[in-house]
Amino acid sequence: PNNVIWNDVDEYFVEKLIPNDPILENVLLANYQAGLPSIDVSPTQGKLLYLLAKIKGAKNILEIGTLGGYSSIWLARALPEDGKLTTLEISHEHAKVAKQNIIEAKLQEKVEIIIGKALDTLPTLKESKPLFDFIFIDADKPNNPHYLKWALKLASSGALIIVDNVVRNGEVIYETSQDESVKGVRELLDLITTDSRIDTTAIQTVGLKGYDGFVIGVVK
Ligand code: SAM
Repeated sequence: PNNVIWNDVDEYFVEKLIPNDPILENVLLANYQAGLPSIDVSPTQGKLLYLLAKIKGAKNILEIGTLGGYSSIWLARALPEDGKLTTLEISHEHAKVAKQNIIEAKLQEKVEIIIGKALDTLPTLKESKPLFDFIFIDADKPNNPHYLKWALKLASSGALIIVDNVVRNGEVIYETSQDESVKGVRELLDLITTDSRIDTTAIQTVGLKGYDGFVIGVVK
């Protein structure tokens, strides 16, 4: 019911706070033209990721769920000269679009896309990469509990972990929900409740992407 005003307010904030970003505008256009679903983070959320990575001084970021690289680009922009972002994507088609978008954004030196099921590629990172200081989980939601377990294995002490889409229009509170994504979020929260290695909160959001929210935590 309030979606119109949420959208208008988001658009107002974008106009005031994130104006004239042809690179990111072209990413969304390229994604649309390639037929990708528009399930990327919104501009204000992308900028939040960027600001958090800056505040953290992140040097080695892991993203699970690349799509067309919209959030990857926001995050990679926060990296220092020698910083790296590794992003995991199951779809060759999505990865191809993301690769081109990342080249257009001149971030190809900093970003590596690894194609495959994240649950298959995550174990390889333990050997091949240093520990991550910032992890953004935004792939298939039913696997969220598994992704959090991997994130905790791959994170350095003090790392920031963010999990997107944990409110799902409020459906997260329904214990008996048969929706696999809701179940994934609820299992994620159960895991957080019982795992003392991460200090966490959750924030509800409204805006261009509807009513949703994210979990944010710091690894001890
Ligand atoms: N983070 C992106 C952004 O904000 O621009 C949006 C990511 S989109 C919500 C989720 C992505 O995860 C999709 O591109 C999808 O193909 C990918 N995905 C789904 N299941 C996956 C899996 N098992 N392993 C890796 N990626 C997966």
